[in-house]
Amino acid sequence: MLNPSHTPRQLNWNRVLLNAFWIGLLVHTSSRMFNSLILLPDLIILGVVILLEGIHKWRPKLCEVSIMVGSYVISLFITILIPSNIQASLLIMLFPLLVSMIYLKNSYLIASTAFSLFYMIVQLSLPSVHNHIVWSESILISIIFAATALTGFAVIRRGQDLIRSLENSEKSEQDLRIQNIIMDRLSKIDALTDLYNHKTFHEYFSWLIDHQQSNRFLMQLAILDIDNFKKVNDTYGHGVGDIALRQVAATVLEHIGADDFAARYGGEEFVIILTAKPLEASYEIIERVRKGIANLPIPEMEGKSVTVSIGMHDFQGAESKNHVFQKADDALYEAKKTGKNKTVIL
Ligand code: GH3
Ligand code: MG
Ligand code: MG
Repeated sequence: MLNPSHTPRQLNWNRVLLNAFWIGLLVHTSSRMFNSLILLPDLIILGVVILLEGIHKWRPKLCEVSIMVGSYVISLFITILIPSNIQASLLIMLFPLLVSMIYLKNSYLIASTAFSLFYMIVQLSLPSVHNHIVWSESILISIIFAATALTGFAVIRRGQDLIRSLENSEKSEQDLRIQNIIMDRLSKIDALTDLYNHKTFHEYFSWLIDHQQSNRFLMQLAILDIDNFKKVNDTYGHGVGDIALRQVAATVLEHIGADDFAARYGGEEFVIILTAKPLEASYEIIERVRKGIANLPIPEMEGKSVTVSIGMHDFQGAESKNHVFQKADDALYEAKKTGKNKTVIL
């Protein structure tokens, strides 16, 4: 699993924080330049932000921790720049706390709070600071820190809750989508042969006939029926009959092209719709299917094979769906009547 700190969403937050750093730096440097007061700490702060930018570009995995450390360093150097304003310099230590909240990680907030607390204790115990700040002020500043840290923990908890519920709803949405795909597939596919089913054939065939009205294209319908299939069942059992049905379906799929459509019409009957090619080309494909089936030994039938009879009709335009089907069915009847294992075109 990916570490959350490397996800695109997290990298994006690094960018947002870096942009905020740059804006802060711009405002800070402009005010310092206005007063002609660029000192070493200003240059160090600039260096830190440039370094963070480099880490973001070349070491993105380290960017999050670097931004946290960078926020401590920047806060420290800002406090150095305003030694006379003790209260403000103590409050600047809130900056790492705010940065740590963005990442919604308790560990960062604990580290920032500890760092700021340590800084405050050190500062308040220095005689130079101690004498400049009254107790009520230091208590107020401590309360502000405590309140910010507590709010930070609450914000992080709330953020984590939101992320969790978002992940849960994403997961349920994904489950639902998978279920829909499965249901959709179940309603369209024949479970035994994996070909399209009777219902899907009729839907697709109707759709094609409708489209013929506005945009004529070449189309043939072929109906296949396994010869003497009852005998296969009677001799080898229905289980072997099912294996033969699957083999026939696989052979059909093996020979038809991307423009063609095959379905199990029912029982031991199959339909193939061939489009975008003349009758001669479709006949060749259908003959390849027929010969392929006839030459395919089925081990469960002592290596014997089954044969199919095929009736085919070339769509002539302005024909109804029933008429096309009836013609192909008549051709199939003719094939059965005149010896089986053959293709008849009507
Ligand atoms: P013909 O050459 O005239 O087509 O003879 P036939 O025996 O193939 O035709 P008939 O319609 O008499 O028999 C079809 C058989 O197909 C009857 C039925 O038991 C079998 N059948 C239909 N569906 C399935 C199936 O899903 N599995 C199996 N094993 N057999 C099936
Ligand atoms: Mg039949
Ligand atoms: Mg049959």
